[in-house]
Amino acid sequence: MKKLALWILILIGMALGVLWGLISVHFGWEKFTVMWVKPWGTMFLNLLKLIAVPLIFVSLVKGISSLKDISRLSRIGLKTIGLYVATTVFAITVGLILVNSIKPGNVFPEEKQQEYKERFGADILERELEARKVKEQSPLQFIVDIIPENIVNAASNNANMLQIIFFAILFAVAMIMLPESKTETVAGFFDGLNDIILKIIDIIMKTAPYGVFALMAGLIVDFSGDKDIFTALGLYMFTVILALLLLIIVFYPLLNIIFTKINVKKFYKGMLPTQLVAFSTSSSAATLPVTMKQCTEEFGVSKGVANFVLPVGVTINMDGTSAYIAIAAVFIAQVFGISLGLGDQLVIVLMVLMASIGAPGIPGGSIVMLIIVLNTLGLPEAGLALILGVDRPLDMLRTAVNVTGDSTVSAMVAKSEGELDIEGIIEK
Ligand code: ASP
Repeated sequence: MKKLALWILILIGMALGVLWGLISVHFGWEKFTVMWVKPWGTMFLNLLKLIAVPLIFVSLVKGISSLKDISRLSRIGLKTIGLYVATTVFAITVGLILVNSIKPGNVFPEEKQQEYKERFGADILERELEARKVKEQSPLQFIVDIIPENIVNAASNNANMLQIIFFAILFAVAMIMLPESKTETVAGFFDGLNDIILKIIDIIMKTAPYGVFALMAGLIVDFSGDKDIFTALGLYMFTVILALLLLIIVFYPLLNIIFTKINVKKFYKGMLPTQLVAFSTSSSAATLPVTMKQCTEEFGVSKGVANFVLPVGVTINMDGTSAYIAIAAVFIAQVFGISLGLGDQLVIVLMVLMASIGAPGIPGGSIVMLIIVLNTLGLPEAGLALILGVDRPLDMLRTAVNVTGDSTVSAMVAKSEGELDIEGIIEK
């Protein structure tokens, strides 16, 4: 028999978990489920958290230090990074606007939210205390907090992720500044380490169907079989899909019409094969060869530009992922009745920007990043159980958005350099 794809197994795990949860509530087996099933979910979450610090450190160092070549071509390099950051921030903003207006997590009546807040409250209480403290601090305190005084301390708590990111950036920038002969060994070491970490994620994801089963069963028991949760989940998926479609159907074609003069028809004709491969593999890294081919052959992006804008984009530019993480984090906050102020939303923009740079272009690559964002914002991780089960279809779509963003930026950079040959007249 053909082996079922992982995402189907995860979906099955989720459905069985829901079923088990409902049965437990019905027959009064809640205690058994909490004692014997739920811990497996916690183990799965712990595995994901375990890999968070190494992943973000290694992938940032690798991603940024690979910019070495680009910094040689500094004008193009700066343009590329600038456009990547701008499109990512735009995508996060779209996500935040939609999730704050649709409010998919607010379907629960207020007393229910209050109850969840109390039940999952440890984190939240701490956070509120912190928020109160913040009001009495210097406005510069948040920058002070980003600079760790001790790297081992910083690495000891996932909520300190900005400190790790700070150190990773410092480390990578120093690497870029040194002559290559000095950093060769370290760069090779990080290459190998990166492969090992990706393999570990692969192993962890193999346990996901069981993890999701346990998480879902635990969650249904915690929510006492609350039906509203499914409405919330449906609305959440709708919000993510809407944000991703807006980016694909409106934002990128518009950027192309304005900046590259590639018309909508040509844009879709060229993009579709890339988007389909991204959609079916859920991996922008695996899609890279197709992205390169389509950009150079269909849009006329010069090989020179495509060769560095696109590989860099795979690691650092993930517009679909960014919109998704922002929506997921706010959704989880809404479900647990935690209101996020403007300051929190700004932190989300910053965190998600960093997280999308750190997220690897592999299936489910952003899940670890989402945990980090939740930790940093002090939001309950239990919420992750809610969205993991429905993650794969959203992952497919956001990967398609990610590669569309990379391709658009490569065309924009090529155009601005006079290296976009739409009609195929100039010899490439
Ligand atoms: N699968 C995505 C990609 O490869 C990353 C993610 O959002 O999980 O681009």
